[in-house]
Amino acid sequence: MSRTLPPAARVALTRLGQIALTFVLFAICNAIAGDFEIENNVSILFPATAISILTCMYFGGWAAVGIVLATMATPWSPDFGWRILVLSGLLSAIEGLIPLIVFRLRRDLHADLRDMKSLVAFLIFGTVVNSAISALLGNLLVIAHPAGVWINWHEVFVWWIADFTAALLLATPILAFGGTFFRRLRGGERDDRRTLANALQIVTAVILLGWAAAFAIRMYLLHSLTERRLAWDAARKILFVASLVDLLVLLILILASATLLFNVSRPFRQLRVQIETMQEGARFDAARVDSRYVEFRTLAETLEEASAALHRRAEELRVQTARAVSASKAKTDFLAKMSHELRTPLNSIIGFSDLLIEQEQKMLSAKRVTFLGNVASSARHLLSLINDLLDISKVESGKMSMNLGEIDLRAAIANSVASTSSLFLRKHQQVDVELPSEPMIVNGDLGRLEQVLLNLLSNANKFSPDGDRISVTTAGNGASYRVEIRDHGIGISAGDQERIFEEFEQVHTKGARSSGTGLGLALARRFVEAHGGTIELRSAIGEGSVFSVVLPRMSA
Ligand code: ADP
Repeated sequence: MSRTLPPAARVALTRLGQIALTFVLFAICNAIAGDFEIENNVSILFPATAISILTCMYFGGWAAVGIVLATMATPWSPDFGWRILVLSGLLSAIEGLIPLIVFRLRRDLHADLRDMKSLVAFLIFGTVVNSAISALLGNLLVIAHPAGVWINWHEVFVWWIADFTAALLLATPILAFGGTFFRRLRGGERDDRRTLANALQIVTAVILLGWAAAFAIRMYLLHSLTERRLAWDAARKILFVASLVDLLVLLILILASATLLFNVSRPFRQLRVQIETMQEGARFDAARVDSRYVEFRTLAETLEEASAALHRRAEELRVQTARAVSASKAKTDFLAKMSHELRTPLNSIIGFSDLLIEQEQKMLSAKRVTFLGNVASSARHLLSLINDLLDISKVESGKMSMNLGEIDLRAAIANSVASTSSLFLRKHQQVDVELPSEPMIVNGDLGRLEQVLLNLLSNANKFSPDGDRISVTTAGNGASYRVEIRDHGIGISAGDQERIFEEFEQVHTKGARSSGTGLGLALARRFVEAHGGTIELRSAIGEGSVFSVVLPRMSA
């Protein structure tokens, strides 16, 4: 059958056969190796760079050398048949597979062809290895020259240029489309989203078509030339038509690249503008990024989500801050109100019950005097509790004001011992106070420090038995003064010694505990710490306790 075909048709059929076989082989290879698409972490620069390289080869190698040499000879024998056609296609496909296999095995190489190493590897494998195999095996077999054993090396070279270009040009779009093609064959979802890689595939397909057209026309003209063995007119005609086709392909390429560039640069610019407005506090609007390419769409949508999440966070923070501020204000207001509302009536209860006690005493009604005494002492207890609570909340809100000044600790000690003397008298306890003759000057708030010592003294009174001896001693070194209050009472276990300085912590809830709120030591520690000092405790159950207040000396 092939003998009946005109030589031009045979030439076209050979190429078509090669294209078809190459396509199938590449598609199979591509499906096995995985999709050559952007999801595989392959840079979009790979197809882009491949296009540039192929374009250079096409317009440089093929156009300059190929066309001129091609006019000098035809490799086609008049009697080759279908077997040679298939063989030729297979060999072309194998040639094209070589760089593909290399780059599949060494993924790091083709990740980015801007990298010199990858580029050199691409050129070596694509050009040297491929052309060696092509020239030595493929084309020697394909060319059945009329002269028999005699080989025209010009012909081999021309045929190689054509074959190699064909194989590489075929490789790129098939690499790109093959995976998608097989995914569809396997019944995978049709994905209408376009990727940049897809756009580049289309550009490549355009190149392929342009090349195929140029090749077919050249082949036809070359064939017609064989009859007349290179008439100059015909050679000129070939050069002219071939250049025209090349020019057309070049134009298409430029147009395709410009479109691609526009399609890439525009959404990038829009993204940048949107991100800039986002920095100024506005929301990212994905609708303003005008691109149908999935890379830009997903990037824009992700940025929109991130921006929305940021706004939500900021709003939540704003609401929470407002809530916290109003809660803190409410607390302060409540405390202020409480101090006024509770303290005022309590003071009047205390005042009037004192008055009543005085009057009842004159009328000698002992029972009533006791009852009224209970009322007055409960009210006083309540008042001190409220005062402590107020102090604690002031400390917590950072509103505690300190009236600092140069004070003599001896005065604070003497005052607090004097004001607790009635407590000690009641329990027949003796307080031994040892004060130095030198003044003990600290920078402090006399009222607060007296409050601390009062609390320690009243605890010593509360938690030690009747008739106990309480001692108040002082010591000093170059940096600080120490005031120690020692009792021989019930003591505090090691495990409780830290806890009792926390708010509302009381450890002797049975028996020994008479009154108290559990706030005294917490306040005392805070007051002392506000002076830059510390409270220390040494104690053992059943042996008594020593509370020490250490305060820094006032620097001269
Ligand atoms: P309050 O005396 O009002 O209960 P404090 O904060 O002053 O509160 O004391 C906390 C607890 O520490 C007391 O309830 C008591 O259990 C224990 N404590 C304080 N001082 C002494 C002491 N000198 N001896 C034994 N236990 C004490």
